[in-house]
Amino acid sequence: MKHIRNFCIIAHIDHGKSTLADRLLQTTNTIADRDMKNQALDDMDIERERGITIKSHAIQMDYTHSDGEKYVLNLIDTPGHVDFSYEVSRSIAACEGALLIVDAAQGIEAQTISNLYLALENDLEIIPILNKMDLPGAQPEEVTDQIVELIGCRPEDVIPASGKTGLGVQAILNAIVERIEPPKGNPDAPLQAMIFDSVFNSFRGIIAYYRVLNGKIKKGDRVKFVNTKKEYYADEIGILRMTMEPRKEVLTGDVGYIISGIKKANEVKVGDTITTTANPCLDVVQGFEDVKPMVFAGLYPVDTDEYEELRASLEKLQLNDASLVFEPESSMALGFGFRCGFLGMLHMEIIQERLEREFDMTVITTVPNVSYKAYLPKENEPKIVNNPSELPDPSKVDYIEEPFINAQIITKSEYIGQVMSLCIEKRGNLKNQVYLTQNRVELTFEMPLGEIVFDFYDKLKSCSRGYASFDYHPIGYQQSDLIKLDLLLNGDPVDALSALVHRSNAYELGKKICLKLKELIPRQQFEIPIQAAIGAKVIARETIKALRKDVTAKCYGGDISRKRKLLEKQKKGKKRMRQVGNVEIPQEAFLAVLKLD
Ligand code: GDP
Ligand code: MG
Repeated sequence: MKHIRNFCIIAHIDHGKSTLADRLLQTTNTIADRDMKNQALDDMDIERERGITIKSHAIQMDYTHSDGEKYVLNLIDTPGHVDFSYEVSRSIAACEGALLIVDAAQGIEAQTISNLYLALENDLEIIPILNKMDLPGAQPEEVTDQIVELIGCRPEDVIPASGKTGLGVQAILNAIVERIEPPKGNPDAPLQAMIFDSVFNSFRGIIAYYRVLNGKIKKGDRVKFVNTKKEYYADEIGILRMTMEPRKEVLTGDVGYIISGIKKANEVKVGDTITTTANPCLDVVQGFEDVKPMVFAGLYPVDTDEYEELRASLEKLQLNDASLVFEPESSMALGFGFRCGFLGMLHMEIIQERLEREFDMTVITTVPNVSYKAYLPKENEPKIVNNPSELPDPSKVDYIEEPFINAQIITKSEYIGQVMSLCIEKRGNLKNQVYLTQNRVELTFEMPLGEIVFDFYDKLKSCSRGYASFDYHPIGYQQSDLIKLDLLLNGDPVDALSALVHRSNAYELGKKICLKLKELIPRQQFEIPIQAAIGAKVIARETIKALRKDVTAKCYGGDISRKRKLLEKQKKGKKRMRQVGNVEIPQEAFLAVLKLD
């Protein structure tokens, strides 16, 4: 055990975590140079393309230290996005140390700090790394000061590095061995292992990754996942290298995988404890949570015939993504579809994209919303509202609560004004303001999660010219004066366009949405009035003028084969359009609320 080191890498997105991980794998010969492709750990297509890590992975390296001793280094990679912060927290809990990577040109950003806090909460040894030293814009002195200030280390503890040139990689490996504690734990105690991740493999089923805290796991053991209360046989266990390497046992302190014929992702919960049924451990691993979706949206097939196919696709996606939830819903406007719950906006985009790439589905997504609680008189339990159109008649509701967050924003001092007005416009309440250095400031706001779901992130970027980073943590529900804003096309309410908004914003929002819809909905043969209403009261109106002459006439006539080709072409480029009543609505219009200026 004294030759094992378990560590993770934490960084703000784009600060070079994946690149540096690649260098560590190369330097320790874990991965042969000829097999090296960039970002070896990011193996989902979407991850590679977007350069983000969605799922975390673990990999074991052998390293011979300058003292001549051989060490086993377990690198546990963590996803870099707030949507997955629970997974990050569990990966961090599986480690004794963390490499804290800070881009020498960018300096400390919001996720640097939020991930650092998670690491400190888990008593991890922090090894600060000043990365991208090769950049001409690197500011080593200033950023070192920031790091020293933030974690209270000495300037000489900060390792200058570059994932690009390889600078500092050797020093990092040395520091991992010398500064990070070997794992503790009792090899003779009953098995206690913590699941920090799981993946779906189409041949092997669900593979769970765990860190053994006490005892050992043996091939063939009858094991129990304590929180889900399910029991399995450890059909195959082993360690994680570039491939899975089967072993007879995985010992205290080490990181491994288990395959036990599990078919459904939701049977394996991150944070759960694995023990044996023969000799169960007394305590579960602390910190387990059942992750709940934060953001909901309706997903509807563009082609109404594809409803069953969409269901099958979502079921398949759920096999390897337990955090996706869905249930059937129907919309007057869109017909049959599903209300899906996601961890956040990025998670929602990923699911949408995977539906298209892996399942060839074209879907319409409705405006995302958070989960509200409507308190009704004489009832103890609130009604959970995951779809604005399900809100009970307002006259029958005592009050409504919505989820709030603590938002941390780091920006340059010159943008404080703009960032403040944005946050206040989004119903934020300034809680704290700290200068990290002379021209870098950290602002903490309490604000409704629902406002983040809208266009907050884009606006923050533009009002700060990109010099603002942002992270958030849920802090529970609070009462809010929310009302339902309905949109009517041609006099008919389109339920898929309804949103819950704060009373103080309703008029302005209503007006803006009408204007946006006017822009997004193509002109048709007839005039289309667009109205925004609260209950029976219309608060805004726009009109889409009718087309002057019949431009579709061009499509008629001509020979049959040309027409067929045209039809096929149309089918291929299946437009995300839905006919609602007699109005054709493009996908963008369903998300109009998100795109207001
Ligand atoms: P991650 O989001 O933290 O995993 O960051 P990546 O490793 O994906 O790197 C983000 C971007 O920075 C990529 O375009 C990398 O090529 C680039 N990058 C990473 N490390 C370095 C470095 O040391 N120097 C320079 N110049 N660029 C780097
Ligand atoms: Mg990455």
